[in-house]
Amino acid sequence: MFTRSNTKKINVGNITIGGDNSVKIQSMCNIPTYDYRKVIKQILQLEEAGCDLVRIAVNDEAAVLNIDRIKDKIHIPLVADIHYDYKLALMAMYKGIDKIRINPGNIGDEDKIKLVVSLASNKNIPIRIGVNSGSLDKDILRKHDYIVTPEGLFESAKKHIEILEKYDFHNIIVSIKSSDVLMAKKAYEIFAENYDYPLHIGITEAGTLKDGNIKSSLGLGLLLNEGIGDTMRVSLTADPVEEIYTAKKILQELKMYNKGYELISCPTCGRTEINIIKLANILNDELTKIFTKDITSKQNRIYKVACMGCVVNGPGEAKECDIGIAGGKKEAILFKKGKIIKKIPENEIINILKEEILLDLSRIK
Ligand code: SF4
Repeated sequence: MFTRSNTKKINVGNITIGGDNSVKIQSMCNIPTYDYRKVIKQILQLEEAGCDLVRIAVNDEAAVLNIDRIKDKIHIPLVADIHYDYKLALMAMYKGIDKIRINPGNIGDEDKIKLVVSLASNKNIPIRIGVNSGSLDKDILRKHDYIVTPEGLFESAKKHIEILEKYDFHNIIVSIKSSDVLMAKKAYEIFAENYDYPLHIGITEAGTLKDGNIKSSLGLGLLLNEGIGDTMRVSLTADPVEEIYTAKKILQELKMYNKGYELISCPTCGRTEINIIKLANILNDELTKIFTKDITSKQNRIYKVACMGCVVNGPGEAKECDIGIAGGKKEAILFKKGKIIKKIPENEIINILKEEILLDLSRIK
């Protein structure tokens, strides 16, 4: 078992990031913030999927003006993503934002930095420094022969931190992202050896659903397994809700998220006589719908479901499962905790499983 890095605790709205707190899952809205009704709708979907905090792009005044409208309708902390513009940072804080993501080194002259830091201090609003391999500071790049290195990424984070610390500001969260898994891993490791500010971990621009999930699982899994990471974002070119599912799955496999469902399904082989691939995919979608925030909030363990191709390995392989099926010839055997219950025809498998699962879950107090 690994030990979590002992990071500083930072309050973001009604949650705490860092220290011995659970790893918080976050995402970012991909709807322009001026369209606040759609933004609210998306945030509520993210909440339902299990998102702990959410970021919105604050790139103009229209976006800032919607902050309180959005906050009014959501239940998780709201983070403003701001680049360069200190006025937007100030306005976002006046509008009640819970955290801002801005790099102090990019704000400009000292007076502007001072204004931002002093308001964040007064309002106890944390600042996330976000270093990204795609936008590394020019002076650091020059120093490293125009090659992005983990050391360069760390150096950039250090530079921004020192600006905030100069004004006695320590309410800081840091991310050092790269689209290169091993580069990001190394940069986060260097950071964790040198600072105790909580880390927002992520593999940036990880790609589309399939590849992005693989890169994120590898990168975030390696880091979390080393005890590094206090909040995580899976970054996908996809519906942000997908990011939440992936993040929860990564945490589940690392035994850091003890809720939701796990679907165990076999790879199929020459013995398979029902369409397991189709069934497992439909079942997965149904399970995603069944395990609402309301259900998971009551769980103290993961509910396991098996979808197996045959009786040779089905019940045996899935003994630890709460429920499952093992395929036969155009039918399946329903089993619970590895014990055979009854035979069901192939076309009734999904409905019967759904009914049984809902019945089981209704018993969760
Ligand atoms: Fe093949 Fe049965 Fe194993 Fe599925 S459970 S891969 S059908 S042996």
